[in-house]
Amino acid sequence: MSRFGPVKIVYSDRFLLHDTGGGDHPETAARLEVIWRSLKKGPLAGNIEILEPRQVDRGLLLSVHTEDYIFRFEEACLSGMEMLGHPDNRICYESYNVALLSAGASQTGIDFLEKGQAPSRVFCCIRPPGHHSEAALALGFCFLNNVAIAAKYWQQQYGRQRVFILDFDAHHGNGIQEIFDEDPDVFYVSIHEHPTFSFPGTGYEEDRGSGAGDGYTMNIALPPGSSDAEVLKAMEDKVAGAIEEFQPDCIIAAAGFDAHEYDDMSGLAYSTRLYGHIGRHLSAWADIYCDGRLVSILEGGYSLDALGPSVEIYLGGLCLEA
Ligand SMILES: [Zn+2]
Repeated sequence: MSRFGPVKIVYSDRFLLHDTGGGDHPETAARLEVIWRSLKKGPLAGNIEILEPRQVDRGLLLSVHTEDYIFRFEEACLSGMEMLGHPDNRICYESYNVALLSAGASQTGIDFLEKGQAPSRVFCCIRPPGHHSEAALALGFCFLNNVAIAAKYWQQQYGRQRVFILDFDAHHGNGIQEIFDEDPDVFYVSIHEHPTFSFPGTGYEEDRGSGAGDGYTMNIALPPGSSDAEVLKAMEDKVAGAIEEFQPDCIIAAAGFDAHEYDDMSGLAYSTRLYGHIGRHLSAWADIYCDGRLVSILEGGYSLDALGPSVEIYLGGLCLEA
């Protein structure tokens, strides 16, 4: 066991209740089931502690999303609609409450880090994911922006003003970028497949934030076929310098695993092993710059073969000694 003690996983079986209708929808409850299957038989088995999430605070939710949008989302679920705006965004009766829980998971994780006596590593193993959802828009399987809500919580509850977000999902987190576009206190870095080739078609490198937030967005757009070497080079050449200059009070990882070579959702070709390196980098940065204040929040990852091992090796990387 590392000095971090058991890995803290914020999780509830209620995340399985968000039903995307079967068929060929890729964002399914099976994703979380395969993660648990891997964790329970791998080297972290016996070294995991589950933290129970709570629903996101209403005021916090409204610091990211508009009241009108929240109302429409709730009403769509409770009235039996099957989608919110687009067939990608499948919903069921339970989806609204599950999304509130998914968005609140980071509150539990952040509280644990802030109040814990010993350093810990926290992973929010949640669904639905969040990084495509904007203030008033559901998009790409996402309804509430879990990562943006986590950043606001850290600021509002604990005064950790300078938040660094690293998004390593295959897709650009257009929602996180939109919400913090003009905000110099939240530095959003995304490494993703080039928008010319990939959903949602945002995340060009020339987009660097606007107004007071100019320079606090960094998009690293990789051509299709990019693999471990390109990611590691970007982290060492670009991300490391950005975080050093920014000197964050806390770090949030938008942890998506759909750039894996087995995952059909992108043309990127990361190995499973790469996620261990990403975890190791994040762990070191968290210790160097912000006293270990790092929360990882699950985003995408749709290959039911690759997702479990990728998460497992990522968590292993997070727990390595610097
Ligand atoms: Zn994705």
